[in-house]
Amino acid sequence: MKKCEVLVVGAGPVGTTCASRLAALGLDVMIVECEATSTHDLRATTIHASTLEMLDEIDAAQPLIEIGLKAPVYQMRDRRSGEILAFDLGELADMTKFPFRLQCEQYNMARLLSDRLAALPNVDLRFNCRFVSSRESADGVIATLEDNGTLIEVEAKFVVGADGARSAVRKQLGTEFDGFTYEEKFVSMSTAYPIEKVITDLSYVNYISDPEEWLVLLKVPSVWRVLVPADGALSDEELISDANRDAVFRRIVGHGDVETTHRTIYKVHQRVAREFVSGRHAIIGDAAHLNNPLGGFGMNSGIHDGWNLADKLWQILRKDAGRAALDLFERQRQAVTRSVIQAQTIENMESMGMAEGAKLEAKRAKMRAIHEDPAARRQFLLRQALFASLQQEREIA
Ligand SMILES: Cc1cc2nc3c(=O)[nH]c(=O)nc-3n(C[C@H](O)[C@H](O)[C@H](O)COP(=O)(O)OP(=O)(O)OC[C@H]3O[C@@H](n4cnc5c(N)ncnc54)[C@H](O)[C@@H]3O)c2cc1C
Repeated sequence: MKKCEVLVVGAGPVGTTCASRLAALGLDVMIVECEATSTHDLRATTIHASTLEMLDEIDAAQPLIEIGLKAPVYQMRDRRSGEILAFDLGELADMTKFPFRLQCEQYNMARLLSDRLAALPNVDLRFNCRFVSSRESADGVIATLEDNGTLIEVEAKFVVGADGARSAVRKQLGTEFDGFTYEEKFVSMSTAYPIEKVITDLSYVNYISDPEEWLVLLKVPSVWRVLVPADGALSDEELISDANRDAVFRRIVGHGDVETTHRTIYKVHQRVAREFVSGRHAIIGDAAHLNNPLGGFGMNSGIHDGWNLADKLWQILRKDAGRAALDLFERQRQAVTRSVIQAQTIENMESMGMAEGAKLEAKRAKMRAIHEDPAARRQFLLRQALFASLQQEREIA
């Protein structure tokens, strides 16, 4: 029977980062992906500075910086009044080598890391290999995998589920995935149209609030990604139709008939698994928690889960740290997920679509005050770049 120390399920951005860290720490890793190749996933575009610091430790930050766009400044705009609050991550240059958000699609990271993992002697990377089930043995886990159509068994000391929202490993844990799904769906469209020539003062990252149709405009090297709430009166087919594309772009650039390279609808969830660890199984990334994309926290926080977990598994497998290390991972990442990632993204969602009135005015006044006060602004930037959550994690014993 094939043996390894850690079996990582899923070669998305979270699984590949975790496997890369485990491999760099000298552990014997197997990583399996049910798809035939690294998926061309267009969802995440933002890599935060705190994550770039981690990627730098496995020599993956610079290659991504070379193909991405540095976005030091991002804007929070009000679509009706035109008010712009611009936040400059350059203010964190005293504490990070990467004082910007890197705009680079998530598939670039998963691909880069998969290619590297495939070449490592202590890693067995398999595509077309699906995790089916697992059972705990006296001192490990026996996992059943469907490897290119053939059922095989693998013996691992630990199994890490980085297998996304519908995680089979989470189901194996038998834990609840508590939370809710927003009624409103999101529509994402990509276009090479130069929106910056029409709205000339844009940054690469722009959150534009509006009670009728909030808007996110994100630049990646080849296209603008446009994210808007779905019109609830339209069917899924109508939402990605040319007619809806024209309606959305008419409101942004003043005319329709803008060519798009990609149109998708997303259902949006706020969910956290009740347990991230059970026995010798752990879950990270979307397998463990889901949140709306406003702020760019889902993938980034998933990578932070994997980084934390890799360190704990290394302590257990190489330093005899014992079970307490996994319990600490659970406490640290549960706390950060609930108090920062969930809380902040729910707040971001509310702010984007807030209707006129006293609540909206109070929210704007609060953001203006943060923007104008250097100390409050720094705290805000540290929170948005996910440095504050890593500090919080370190403070949990
Ligand atoms: C519109 C949108 C924009 C977003 N923007 C951002 C952003 O800018 N920044 C950010 O941080 N987050 C963002 N997110 C969230 C981000 O896309 C996810 O959090 C991220 O993809 C999670 O990565 P993951 O590796 O955990 O899961 P996934 O990317 O879903 O990868 C899971 C992998 O596991 C594989 N798999 C599944 N089941 C099995 C199995 N049984 N066996 C083997 N393999 C399996 C899958 O094929 C897949 O490759 C965005 C989300 C949306 C919807």
